[in-house]
Amino acid sequence: MEATDSVADTNPPMAMLAELTHRCPLACPYCSNPLELKQQASELPTGDWVRVLGEAAALGVLHVHFSGGEPASRRDLVELTKAANNVDLYTNLITSGVGLTERRMNELAQAGLEHVQLSIQGTDAAEADHIAGYKGGHSRKMDVARWVRSHDLPLTINAVCHRQNIDHLQRTIDLSVELGAHRLEVATVQFHGWAAKNRAALMPTKLQDAEARRIVDAAREQLKGILVIDYVPADYHATYPKACMGGWGRIGLNVDPTGRVLPCHAAESIEGMEFDNVRDKSLADIWYQSKAFNVFRGFDWMEEPCRSCDRKAIDFGGCRCQAMAMTGNAGATDPVCSKSPLHAKLLDTVIELDAVSSPPPLVYRGR
Ligand code: SF4
Ligand code: SF4
Repeated sequence: MEATDSVADTNPPMAMLAELTHRCPLACPYCSNPLELKQQASELPTGDWVRVLGEAAALGVLHVHFSGGEPASRRDLVELTKAANNVDLYTNLITSGVGLTERRMNELAQAGLEHVQLSIQGTDAAEADHIAGYKGGHSRKMDVARWVRSHDLPLTINAVCHRQNIDHLQRTIDLSVELGAHRLEVATVQFHGWAAKNRAALMPTKLQDAEARRIVDAAREQLKGILVIDYVPADYHATYPKACMGGWGRIGLNVDPTGRVLPCHAAESIEGMEFDNVRDKSLADIWYQSKAFNVFRGFDWMEEPCRSCDRKAIDFGGCRCQAMAMTGNAGATDPVCSKSPLHAKLLDTVIELDAVSSPPPLVYRGR
């Protein structure tokens, strides 16, 4: 892979996803974390994270998203929130809620936490705990939502939708309103990391996808001023791909639990790609100079049909990880695109998945 020399055109990143740990008590079958999870012993220590937060702010990052795994599995979460706040980063906690207590939520609020994204796996305990593979999780999430709102912190509900829960989308919307959320992010499952094992069990059908779009459109109209709904539809049923990460190395970066810096959460699935580590290099050096960030920056790397396409500044050729997974070439046009030479093959897969009458059993996330 040859790097594109576009450093002069590169703006600073706006957001940093800080994947504090891969540890997580849940076992979601749609988990997009890699098959091989990073072990606790290899995690970046507190002092390094504090330094990286300072480097991020100096680089121009505005938002830090604490994520995982379950970031509450880190004992230093409050300390890191305070450190981010001290360098004026806007702090967002992306959590399953499991591992948080009311006391810890109070401490986080006092440390300057500014926003919480709480994931739910369903709309009632039986459904949600079945999907999460964790008994009692849903009820804890409902508590966490209340604690968040009691501090008057803005709350976003994250709901991954898939074949087995997408028919309950209206209830998900209603629950988000009941919990006092300001925003609901409904993302249709993507098949990265562990999730790829469950494609036949989780891929929504074309009919389900169409009905979900109808429900979202109606709810957006009805809930104007009450709830903002972000909806990421099933890309297998789309005509064009999403602008994955808003374009490779354009607006955000991910630091994994060991300190490696990746252009996107799933980028380690791209064979042959190597990632620099904040233990060895500064964040600024990695953002501007590293091969991993430059290889798919700009447009020079693109192959046809992307290279001459008038949508290339809209979707940047789609998802590099999906191109890798489906074509073996991370530089190829994302096969989700109707202009891709491999789109017909994707449509055959969609027809096959649609025809699955009884989905296979879920393969839960292993630890
Ligand atoms: S998707 Fe589920 S199992 Fe994976 S990190 Fe998130 S909460 Fe944990
Ligand atoms: S050909 Fe490439 S740039 Fe054009 S729409 Fe498809 S993925 Fe996007």
